Amino acid sequence: MIRPDARALDQLRPVTFLPFIAPHAAGSVLVGFGNTRVIVAATIEESIPPWMKYQNVSGGWLSAEYSMLPYSTLDRKRRDISSGKLDGRSSEIQRLIGRSLRAVVDLEALGPRTLWIDCDVLQADGGTRTAAITGASVAVALALQKLVAEGKVKRNPLRQLVAAVSAGLYKDTALLDLCYVEDRDAAADFNVVMTEKGEFVEMQGSGEEATFTSAQMAEMLELARRGIAELIELQRSAIAAAGTPAAPEALAGLVQMFGKK
Ligand code: UDP
Repeated sequence: MIRPDARALDQLRPVTFLPFIAPHAAGSVLVGFGNTRVIVAATIEESIPPWMKYQNVSGGWLSAEYSMLPYSTLDRKRRDISSGKLDGRSSEIQRLIGRSLRAVVDLEALGPRTLWIDCDVLQADGGTRTAAITGASVAVALALQKLVAEGKVKRNPLRQLVAAVSAGLYKDTALLDLCYVEDRDAAADFNVVMTEKGEFVEMQGSGEEATFTSAQMAEMLELARRGIAELIELQRSAIAAAGTPAAPEALAGLVQMFGKK
């Protein structure tokens, strides 16, 4: 079977990380899974939500927000603020991002702080939630490294990295990392979140006007497991290469990234 972009069945789209895209955030990255691009920024607030104070919960908190920029889709998507409410899909995705990162961040070690993760989709071509989670792990790693360097925490609250990828069934074949066209026509669609240790945080899988067998599910999960192991390696290299931020350097990287075409 030929995929729209001629990829092998078990091949990720080209994955790119451009760190420090948002210099005012503690950690940030522009993550690309092929034509899907998401800006992820991690910001640290020196306070905790009121419910934690009332309930005497120690440690910190982590919360995520997700949105698609109006020009990220082929037809302009209205901002939630214009319609007066957060759409159901965005709310589901931001809760998934929050759970994924809370699985790997030690909130006790974070201290009485809130770690905000803001994900804004710049360009959507399928897999925006998986790109957002994978980028969030990098943005959080950079933000927490900074917190350690500033001497604000005793140990790094990031226990391990986390990444996510989609897998699906398309024309009865299991595929890794679906682009929009594949996602639209897929008979089953899985989003898998897994840690560096190879343990699951979450999997969301459903048949789309179709069903799937346990053998097909096992095949999709195996593709996702291998894809996530690759993503974690790429995250490690991106974090190691990030060094210390300088806004002009990040912008030069951006010109390089988009100027190459
Ligand atoms: N999409 C869109 N407008 C929307 C929602 C989705 O154009 O309001 C497209 C977009 O390319 C997205 C894809 O449909 O990446 C798949 O959406 P899904 O809800 O499955 O989430 P995702 O795969 O992005 O995590």
